[in-house]
Order: sequence, then structure tokens, then C-alpha cells
Amino acid sequence: MTTCFDIGGTYIRYGALQEDGAVAESGRVETPGSDWHRFVAAIEHCAGKDSSAISISLAGAYDERSGIADVANIPCLHKRPVRQELEAALGRPVLITNDANAFALAEAVDGTGRGKPVVFGIILGSGVGGGLVVNGELVKGVGGMAGEWGHGPIMDPTAGGQLKGIDHYSCGCGQTGCIDAVCSARGMERIHTSLHGSRLTSKEITEAWHAGDAAATETIDAYTTLLARALSVLVNTLGPDVIPVSGGLSNDVALLDLVDRKVRSLVLAQYTEPLVIRGQFAENGGLHGAGIVARTTLGGVTP
Ligand SMILES: [Zn+2]
Repeated sequence: MTTCFDIGGTYIRYGALQEDGAVAESGRVETPGSDWHRFVAAIEHCAGKDSSAISISLAGAYDERSGIADVANIPCLHKRPVRQELEAALGRPVLITNDANAFALAEAVDGTGRGKPVVFGIILGSGVGGGLVVNGELVKGVGGMAGEWGHGPIMDPTAGGQLKGIDHYSCGCGQTGCIDAVCSARGMERIHTSLHGSRLTSKEITEAWHAGDAAATETIDAYTTLLARALSVLVNTLGPDVIPVSGGLSNDVALLDLVDRKVRSLVLAQYTEPLVIRGQFAENGGLHGAGIVARTTLGGVTP
């Protein structure tokens, strides 16, 4: 039996991979973020004795070639060769996939991108991430970083002069003006503060927008314009058939509709169907994607 894990900064979710290819979530525990030995004990406990292999979706960058994880919000895993050390500690095979890649794979194989050649799955939440799947194969790239469109100081906060008052925000990666710093939920909050001076959460901003509030509407217009401009470059580069979205902001379907319409108005190709849509696995892409990685890597379980 293979046990799949979705490991985030707050919780570890887990469940067994079933014969039909789905992962039945059986529970969650808090992530022991700063203690490696407690972390290993938690994985061993959740997997149980019958587990012969482990497949992990990890909320952080992971370089398969070096085995090193880059996950600042789980300090005990950061810069550690997690796969090798877990295999040594648990005595069974361990597979690790970045969580955005796991989501993109879930969408490409079993979700909104099923049967479609190019699927670019994106995360819009506390951060901005993504994963690229072409013809059912995850594109990993150098250092496992392919699909990570959130970083690089490329954002023009004025959107070509159309927007005023938005700063070049600093990003967690050490640069300024990253897509992550502007188009994440925190970015939306920063835009609102830049434009209106007040501090609201992204949830409060979107709720006020839905209620017709003028200030929130201005914020959402700026946010979706900046996000759509960034996405339009990726659409022209990758030619995706679908861009499924996960992360906290994906719960707001009206927000995604607005982003979708703006993106399709900016790109070269003619998309007659919605392109940016909520992912079928927006809630459990990590677990389902970890299951697909196990199915395809370890074999033995057919979908
Ligand atoms: Zn950055």
C-alpha cells in the first residue's frame, strides 16, 4: 500500500492510494515545522505499518536531482535532502513532488485538463506558483523550478501607465516587483492599501467587491489587470489548453471569470472557451497528484 501526503506549513494531510487511483484522505495532523525527529515520527505514524511506499506533495521547491527541498516555512525540511533521509529513516521508497506540480498533474491526468496536451496549473493563494504538464508529462526543468512563474522582478506596477499609486513591493524571495508580491492574496491586500490607505484582508476586499463597494472594485480591477498581463505572456509562450487554478483565491469564481476574460482579451490565440478556471482538484490536488506520481513511478496500481 502506498500512503500519500500533502505537507504544508500548517498541516500534514494523508491518505491511502486506492486501486481506482484516488486517494482516500484519512486525516490530518499539525506539521512539526522545526523538529526533524518529530516530523519523521509524524510521517511514520500517519503511514502506519502496512505502508510500503510514500508519495509526498510538498509546499516548497524540490530538486529531484539533488534531493534538496527548499521550503522556508517548514524549517526542519529546508535545505535538507528530505527524500534520502526519509527513506533511510523509514526503510521504504519516498517520492516527493512540489505541491503546484502535484496539482497541475492532477488536473492534467484526471481533472479539467484531461486529454488536453498543455496544462498550466496555477496557485493563487498566500503565494503564486504553478506547474506545467505537457502530453501528460510533468515538466520539471532545471532545479525543479519549471512552472514557478511567481518570481523574478518583472512586474510593471503601473500596467503600462494605466494604474497609479501602486508600489514595487518587496517579495519573500529577496527581490522586488515579483508576480508573487503583487498577484498573491497578500499582493491584493497591498494594492488595496496603496490605492486606498486602509488595510483589509483579501477576503474582506473580495466581499466588499461583491457588495459593490467602489474602493474594492478599483482594487480588484487593478489586481486582475496586473495578473492578466502577467498571465498573457505565459499563455503566448506555452499555448495552454487550460489554466486550472488552486489556492485560496480560486474559491472566488467571479474573480477567476474576470481574470479569464482579461487574459483572453490580451493573448494572440483565439480562445472561445474559458481558459482560466477553478481546478477540479483545487481542494485536494496535492494528495491526488502525489497519488498519480506513485501510480506512474512505482506501478502496480492501475487507474
Ligand atoms: Zn519573488
